[in-house]
Amino acid sequence: MKSNGLICFLLFAAPILIENAHAQDTQRAFSNNIPLKTLKGKVERKDYHTYIERSFTLPDSVKRLRIEFSYNGKEQRTTIDIGLMDPARFRGWSGGARNDLTISAEDATPGYLAGPLPSGEWKLLLGVPNIREGIVSEYEARIYIETQTGVTEFSDKPIRAEAGWYRGDLHMHSGNSDGKCTSQSGKEVGCPVYKIVETATDKGLDFITVTDHNTISQANALRELQPAFDKILLVPGREITTFYGHANIFGLTDFVDFRMTNASYAAAKNWMSAVNNNGGIISINHPGVPSGEACMGCGWQIENIPDKVITAVEVLNGGSMKYSIEGSIEGWDQWHKMLNSGQHVTAIGGSDDHHAATIGTPTTIIYMKELSVQGLIDGIRSGRVFIDIEGKKDHFLDLSAANGENEACMGGTLKGEPSDTINLTAYVKGVSGGKIEFIIDGKLNSTLDREILSNDEKIRVNWETDDNRHSIYIKVRGKDGRLVLVGNPIYVEGR
Ligand SMILES: [Zn+2]
Ligand SMILES: [Zn+2]
Repeated sequence: MKSNGLICFLLFAAPILIENAHAQDTQRAFSNNIPLKTLKGKVERKDYHTYIERSFTLPDSVKRLRIEFSYNGKEQRTTIDIGLMDPARFRGWSGGARNDLTISAEDATPGYLAGPLPSGEWKLLLGVPNIREGIVSEYEARIYIETQTGVTEFSDKPIRAEAGWYRGDLHMHSGNSDGKCTSQSGKEVGCPVYKIVETATDKGLDFITVTDHNTISQANALRELQPAFDKILLVPGREITTFYGHANIFGLTDFVDFRMTNASYAAAKNWMSAVNNNGGIISINHPGVPSGEACMGCGWQIENIPDKVITAVEVLNGGSMKYSIEGSIEGWDQWHKMLNSGQHVTAIGGSDDHHAATIGTPTTIIYMKELSVQGLIDGIRSGRVFIDIEGKKDHFLDLSAANGENEACMGGTLKGEPSDTINLTAYVKGVSGGKIEFIIDGKLNSTLDREILSNDEKIRVNWETDDNRHSIYIKVRGKDGRLVLVGNPIYVEGR
């Protein structure tokens, strides 16, 4: 294909091939799975005002149970209620209000109790509040199980099916850990998850991850809220909070054992492998914040982590950004160190909001094949991501690099020969009068600085490569010189 430097900029076009994306579609694969069991039957007038129990046997090690229920005769006013018992206890009742339900250890459809899924005989409870004389209604309950941990979607289908750039916040806390809000009478109380979701929707965000410290008890609230907030993607997240550093994990709801009592990778490997092996991703949080009594375990101390274990670094954190956006308290040094060691690691931002107030500052914008949890994970992995420090909706940044026939977008790799000229095209919106800077291998190359003359600007520069591998990303500054946008690297391969 002849490169015109524009392949990266065909916005909202068909999804581009995402490098390193280990496509996993657990939830939908699960929904399409063959049922463990299908219970079929019929009710007629003799069943009027009775309860029917239908048994099924759950095997060991089930992580999630899902039941889809349907019946005919609704036009003749047949009504069949459903509920559920496990081998030991009542697990919920939804009457005639729902046709499907899901239960895992951490979250469940409202009306049902989250918790372990014991093996043995379960009972689907059917109640018949109405069936007319002479009517026979057939019902079918399809019982699905998932025995592997995986990426959890709280939405039955993507929030938006289109590929595109989606804006959100990847780091915040609710009252499930140390997030606080003000009560009716003015007291400081643990912040309920709905307040966070409301704040995020008020700010016009497309997605949030609620990343409470080590716990995932917020998942049940997210499960409940997602159908009501059907324009914003709610992503299960967690801040793995150790004595030697903090890291966000995205996508999983299962327990991840965060306990480590020394700073070695050997000690961290347990939880890091659990996340990666089950389709989640890890982002190192606020690595430059010093650890101490003011912020216990906040600085990142875990070294010698193998390549590909860490997917992202929180380069800008809303908490520390107040002090210095470009200083050593932020994640620049950690990110550059990893880039310069040859790792492909995506820079992201997160507000680290603890009061349902500053969500969206900074905003992270991710190119996703669809707005879904899996879309977000694949998008961060691909590296086609930028950070908008002030979270302004009219800001945009993209970068493409071309070398003859080849073109790479942010996160992609360009194969270059020594002395090849790389044509870099930056696309910036909403920062007229500002300046664009090219950062190569973590260092500003000021010979490539360019003024931004309009609010919709494509800037082209040429740069000559050599034998070595390189990373190239862009920073965008406003008129007053303050940093506004940060892109992600395009990688140029060496010999
Ligand atoms: Zn933290
Ligand atoms: Zn945090």
